[in-house]
Amino acid sequence: MSAELIDGKAISQAILDEVRSRIEESGVVPHLVAVQVGEDPASMFYVRNQKKKAEAVGIRYTLRQLSESISQNELIEEIRRLNDDADVTGIILQMPLPKGMDRRAVQRAINYRKDVEGITPTSLGLLLQDRPALVPCTARGAVELLEWVIQKTNDKIEGKDCVIVGRSEIVGKPVAMLMLSMSRSATVTVCHSRTKNLPDKVASADVLFAAVGKPHIIKGEWIKRGAIVIDVGINRVPVLDESGNPVLNEKGKPKYKTVGDVEFEAAKERAAWITPVPGGVGPMTTAILMRNTLEAALRLKGA
Ligand code: NDP
Repeated sequence: MSAELIDGKAISQAILDEVRSRIEESGVVPHLVAVQVGEDPASMFYVRNQKKKAEAVGIRYTLRQLSESISQNELIEEIRRLNDDADVTGIILQMPLPKGMDRRAVQRAINYRKDVEGITPTSLGLLLQDRPALVPCTARGAVELLEWVIQKTNDKIEGKDCVIVGRSEIVGKPVAMLMLSMSRSATVTVCHSRTKNLPDKVASADVLFAAVGKPHIIKGEWIKRGAIVIDVGINRVPVLDESGNPVLNEKGKPKYKTVGDVEFEAAKERAAWITPVPGGVGPMTTAILMRNTLEAALRLKGA
């Protein structure tokens, strides 16, 4: 039997709707400031998307665009000013930073109470201590998709074998911490590039999170029958025709599509539930960012 799809688009829209009504009810208008150094095109795309989503739910969004030539100390000073500004309730530091800057040193300057991306050492430390404040958005979004399935099937996470492939600070590790938390109590295995026998590890998973960034690295045949599969990967790959040649667009350039880390078609035949890519974890990230922004504002305003 083919797996049921976990509709991240619909679930994230429900989160956004809830954020909008909580803002209306509380009367607190969060003010999110994105700090961007230089004009990286991918980062500018995210900024436009964040601004649109923020304004749609009633969050004020300001972009502080800084010159590429700014020094690290000046950037840290700018962040400290935002920390001290009572009108600002959330801060996002857009990546990438110019070459030579120490990303961690700059991130550390963000007041954890305004750290809506959950990436400062304090936010991550609180997560490790199982008293999370603001949690990295993609990790939280991925776990909430699992929780949506668990609720729908009247199941529980406790005791499930959970395998996470990927150990980054923004996805793999925070997912591991969330799944280990007392309120979830999964048994967690974290895999990475040095893991031996990845297929066997994946095959043991009742719940699988894939966060690698390599197209179709997780084969469908590895998936345990009845597993819940949450694919965080976002990979752009060329579209191929039946003979394996690239399909061209109207400009004669290769056409691209987005795929996950999991071989979706084959995995779908074994899993019970699976996220599509696109339309799974992707839209959850911005929705959780908006919810983190609201929660930071409510706490700062004591509402
Ligand atoms: P990173 O590159 O920071 O981490 C990738 C992880 O995968 C590393 O821990 C690495 O291991 C592991 N890895 C690499 N190769 C293998 C392998 N052959 N076998 C097992 N593990 C391997 O990526 P991110 O965590 O930032 O992102 C992961 C994916 O999620 C990407 O596709 C990214 O685009 C996507 N993403 C999606 C978001 C969204 O939905 N909005 C947001 C953030 C990310 P090691 O540590 O040993 O190097």
